[in-house]
Amino acid sequence: MLKVRDLVTQFRVDDHTVYAVDGISFDVQERQLVGLVGESGSGKSVTALSILNLLAHNGRVVSGDIEWQGNSLRNRSQKEWTQILGREIGMIFQNPQASLNPVFTIGDQMIETIRLHTKCNKAEASEKAISLLRQVNLADPELRMNDYPHQLSGGMCQRVMIAMTLSMSPRLLIADEPTGALDVTIQAQIVRLLASLNESLGMSVLLISHDLGVINQFCDYVYIMYLGKIVEEGPPKLIFESPQHPYTQALLAAVPSVHSNHTYSGMVVSGEIPSPINLPTGCRFHPRCPFAMDRCTLAVPELYPVGDGKAACFLVESSN
Ligand code: SF4
Repeated sequence: MLKVRDLVTQFRVDDHTVYAVDGISFDVQERQLVGLVGESGSGKSVTALSILNLLAHNGRVVSGDIEWQGNSLRNRSQKEWTQILGREIGMIFQNPQASLNPVFTIGDQMIETIRLHTKCNKAEASEKAISLLRQVNLADPELRMNDYPHQLSGGMCQRVMIAMTLSMSPRLLIADEPTGALDVTIQAQIVRLLASLNESLGMSVLLISHDLGVINQFCDYVYIMYLGKIVEEGPPKLIFESPQHPYTQALLAAVPSVHSNHTYSGMVVSGEIPSPINLPTGCRFHPRCPFAMDRCTLAVPELYPVGDGKAACFLVESSN
């Protein structure tokens, strides 16, 4: 359904090139819920913006391809994008309050969105809006229609944004840190909601998060990104029960409930993620990797097969 191949996205900042996404490939199949995980600065959000043709003016997809339903999304006209965005590929972002217009009620905004995309009158659109708000488990949807965004909590606003997105019946939803601004209990509720919509509507979901713990129960397949590259991928059982890449192990070590029985539980990765302007040589993780060898500073590890997944680490290559 969505096929990303060797995607390279760069930005120009002053006189520097920022290597934000550097040759990544991944798929989202029909009805799949796929997780894309990495720290801030790993390139995961830039990946989403590259797919959606929403890069800032100083950013561009340099090479690679993004295929949607068998056709390339590169070099599409603005007219084609208005058909694709929302109708075929929907998206929700981290700060739902910022995505809603503060001077209109939830009802007004939902009715307008529904009428833009369907041929229905105001009363029908209002009925559909209430039914969509009910579908995303917003309590008292009839009453919420009269509320302004500032009267709702962050979690409620995210449910409204999901309902608006659903009103266009997209086949794929890209959710970029949809729970980042919410507290832990609400995060779990929103991810559970996305998983139930994935199952009940058959809508594919690409869930982007910095937190492996948030997505551990729901994804069909997980990709781990570090400094613009995918360093590990696999089904959740592999990623959560026997992660192969030291970076994945470190991410899991930060999620106590997930890793407590595993040997990597005490693993700590030192230092900050390096600047994507000045990338480390060899394996990009080597300055922070507790297992780094001389070879790691010189050569770039490819994604080596391991079990049902792959990991870009020389330790995996030598154990194969
Ligand atoms: Fe660590 Fe080397 Fe593996 Fe990179 S290739 S993760 S530096 S051991």
